[in-house]
Formats: sequence, C-alpha cells, structure tokens
Amino acid sequence: ADLNIASRIKFKKVDIFLKGVYEMTEAEAERSVFNALEDTAEWYENERGVGKGVRRFLTAHPDIPRSDLFIETKLKTNRGYEQAKKSFSKSLRNLGLEYVDMYLIHSPLGGPQMREESWKALLDLKESGTVRSIGVSNYGTHHMAQITTKRPQEEWPSINQVDVHPFMRHQDIVDFCGEHGILIQTWGPLARGMRFNHPRIKEIADKKGKSPAQIFLRWNIQKGHAPIPKSVRKDRIIENSSIFDWELSDEDMNYLEDLNEDLVTDWDVTMVD
Ligand code: NAD
Repeated sequence: ADLNIASRIKFKKVDIFLKGVYEMTEAEAERSVFNALEDTAEWYENERGVGKGVRRFLTAHPDIPRSDLFIETKLKTNRGYEQAKKSFSKSLRNLGLEYVDMYLIHSPLGGPQMREESWKALLDLKESGTVRSIGVSNYGTHHMAQITTKRPQEEWPSINQVDVHPFMRHQDIVDFCGEHGILIQTWGPLARGMRFNHPRIKEIADKKGKSPAQIFLRWNIQKGHAPIPKSVRKDRIIENSSIFDWELSDEDMNYLEDLNEDLVTDWDVTMVD
C-alpha cells in the first residue's frame, strides 16, 4: 500500500492524484483529480494552512473520503524520542487531522543516537495508528543502513524523500533504496527551474512538443521515482500533471543519462555524520 504513492505527484496548494489518467473514463479521471498527496513539514510552518485547506476541501466534497487524500508531514529535527512524539502531536494538532498518511524525518541532522531515538518514536507512532506509514528525507546510504541493518524489513522506512533529477542523481541512495524496496520520493524534481535551458533538455522538449518541466517530471517517473513538484499556478499544475499519456524513448532517456553534476538546489545533508 505504501507504494501506491509511487504513482502520485504532489502539488503545493492544489494537489492532484496522477495515476496515469489515460485509460480512465471521464468520470474516473475527474474523480482521480480529487485524490491528493500533500507534502508539508513542521519546518515549513504551514501545517495549519494545509489542514484548513484539507478540511475545507472535504467539506466542499462530501462524496470524497479522507482516505482518498494522502497527507504527509515531517519531523523537523532529531532531538530525542520524547521530542519526536511531542513534535508529531503538535503537527497533528496544527493539521487538525486524526492521522497522517506519512510521517518523515526531515533530515539526518542530529547524529546517530538522536536519529535512532527519532526512528523508535516513528515506529511507535505507526503502531498507534496515528501515522499510516513512516519514512525519512535526505538520508544518505549510511543513515539508511543504520536503520535497515539491525531491523526487520517491516521496520524500514517506506520512502526516502531526496532531490533527484537529471542533474542530481544521488545514484548511491537510489541504488540502496532500490535494493531495499524503499521508494524514492523526489523533492526539487524540476531542479527549481535552474536547468530548463540546458540544450539537451530543450532539444528533447522541442522534439516531443513538451515543456522542459514535463521532460524533468517524465524522466523522474520513468526512473521509478515519485516526484513532488511545487507550483501554485494552475496552468503549471495542469502542465506538470500532463505527463502520463506519453513517454520518453530509451534513446531519450540515454541522452539524459550523463547530465549529472551533483547540482545542489537547496541543501544536501546526505553525507553528514
Ligand atoms: P521544484 O524543482 O519542484 O521547483 C519548484 C519551482 O519550479 C516553483 O517555485 C516554480 O517556480 C517552478 N515551476 C514549477 N512548475 C513549473 C513549470 N511547469 N514551468 C516553469 N516553472 C515551473 O523545487 P522545490 O520547490 O524545491 O521542491 C518541491 C517540493 O519538495 C517542495 O514544495 C517541498 O514540499 C519539497 N522539498 C523538500 C525538501 C526536503 O529537504 N525534504 C527540500 C526542498 C523541497
């Protein structure tokens, strides 16, 4: 069930579920648009707004159950077991929800001991039912291994939210997660627009009659990741969601294969102790 999110893309304000709407009837497609994945965080200080939006949406669409929405939020810092549980309670209160679908540890910062304590807290929250799935974000392979080597598979993270796009591959993390059946959810999948003008991106976009943003997202999907692009503009949200009725050929994918430059668009803490 956790892997259902592989087929979902999150948009910051208006969230749309994108399970390949081709091969759906109009009514099915319309309904699927109302499924949602919302990624927020204690750190973003907008959980209240997200919760308000979700409740308003559910009130306006009484035929849509809460279970059709996928809400995830993140623990800001690793500061011990009790602190993690306290932070979660606050997030849940801010969101005004009874449960969240996914709770992530925002980063590995805090050191091995604090990470261990946070993970224990997340396991207990999952056990309590207030969190349906748990995962991590910005975890490098050694952070992931700290969890996976001494625990059974059911206690591993469901996802690792990392920045991955053609210019930032994080191949070691992608490989580790692939080998362990852990989904890569990709933040910054558009490289924040920093490489929209790259000649190879432009060439493929022109050839396919698609936008550079769509090339980034389609690449991400074909790599097996779950991108969460951000846009508050309706036209861009629609554009970013129109990536399921066409594909990049093997040749196109190969053409984009060696563009990695380890481009950091925000931060990279995957190597910290
Ligand atoms: P992104 O790669 O999604 O780029 C977003 C920017 O691209 C937007 O601000 C917008 O200006 C532009 N854009 C979007 N669609 C476009 C289009 N079709 N055409 C042209 N421009 C377009 O980068 P991001 O915002 O850093 O990442 C997305 C989400 O990932 C965030 O909203 C957040 O939820 C999450 N995130 C997580 C972490 C983390 O540490 N876990 C860090 C950064 C972001």
